[in-house]
Amino acid sequence: MTARARALRASGVDVITLSQGEPDFATPAAICEAGIRAIQDGHTKYTPVAGIAPLREAIRQKFRRDHGLDYGLDQITVGCGAKQVVFNAFFASLDAGDEVIVPTPCWVSYPDMVKLAGGNPVLVPCDEAQGFKLRPDSLEQAITPRTKWLLLNSPANPTGAVYGRDELAALAAVIRRYPRIHVLSDDIYEKLIYDAVFSTIAEAAPDLLDRTLTVNGVSKSDAMTGWRVGYGAGPRPLIQAINLIQSQTSSHTSSVSQHAALAAISGDQSHLAAFVAAFRQRRDLVVGRLNEADGLRCSMPEGAFYAFVSCAGLIGRKTPAGAVIATDTDFAMYLLEEVGVAVVPGSGFLASPYIRVSFAAAPEMLASAMDRITAACKALS
Ligand code: PMP
Repeated sequence: MTARARALRASGVDVITLSQGEPDFATPAAICEAGIRAIQDGHTKYTPVAGIAPLREAIRQKFRRDHGLDYGLDQITVGCGAKQVVFNAFFASLDAGDEVIVPTPCWVSYPDMVKLAGGNPVLVPCDEAQGFKLRPDSLEQAITPRTKWLLLNSPANPTGAVYGRDELAALAAVIRRYPRIHVLSDDIYEKLIYDAVFSTIAEAAPDLLDRTLTVNGVSKSDAMTGWRVGYGAGPRPLIQAINLIQSQTSSHTSSVSQHAALAAISGDQSHLAAFVAAFRQRRDLVVGRLNEADGLRCSMPEGAFYAFVSCAGLIGRKTPAGAVIATDTDFAMYLLEEVGVAVVPGSGFLASPYIRVSFAAAPEMLASAMDRITAACKALS
């Protein structure tokens, strides 16, 4: 989709891209300045594999301040984005055939990372009626003697679903009975939350702390996707194994980025309120307009910056050219080719028939895209 959108744009077609997984805001000036200062001060050499101590200290304080969790500095590791931390954790811990429970819809990288590390992803569908969230009974049914990890992502990509503290405690009650299972909580969208209260499983079930890896980062909250800084906090043996792998692969993320991330985590947080207010306004616009479009239906995401839209009402309809919309990929292609709007089909997140619409774009662009999508739906027969 992205390649096709790029090709269309290169040939002069006016394409609105709503397939992006990153905030459209600039990195706040104070964070950029910290990066520039790091270069000028000569912080341009190798750093410790786990990340510079002041950054890990700031992360430790963040966990204490936001969640009441106490970690030692040697229980924190910094990588090239949350993505590398998740990958390293799987690579460090999975033996061939070990299973990772992945609730779907999910970020597509999870199953592929598990496979790259030699494991088997066990996909557990969580339908819209249950808020796209894993229920304790479905979790229990998915557990086998080979289960090594449960993966949780809240707020979620692509659905915006947010687990409440009670829901996490109920999942923890199942996990508690299976001592071999660890929990990986991907909290990358923590700060981008609207009508819900954020909670993470380490906080909801502190007795599981020695088998919980909590992953987070600055990409989404601080508009720093390109700086590549993410982090993980968890049990010492796992963090040591992650560091060992990192020492033989990337060594560490950029020294300059680490200094910028230090400013993001320990400095002024006022940009966050502005980001959240802007995203909330855009979310309301997009979800309202999508629900008015013929054949589309969309529940309100509580966090992140995506609307996950059912296009079940359009499956089987015909385009003006006579082609049948048989899948969400057909619908996404139709939107791209006919009205120049790029979205991601639900099949990319292992859930169909849906499309994911990112609202990390300027309101004028979003309004224009909604006009186009509405017209495209109306044109189907
Ligand atoms: N987890 C989820 C659920 C994501 O959507 C993304 C970004 N698409 C990441 C992790 C990766 O974040 P980072 O830029 O920190 O690697």
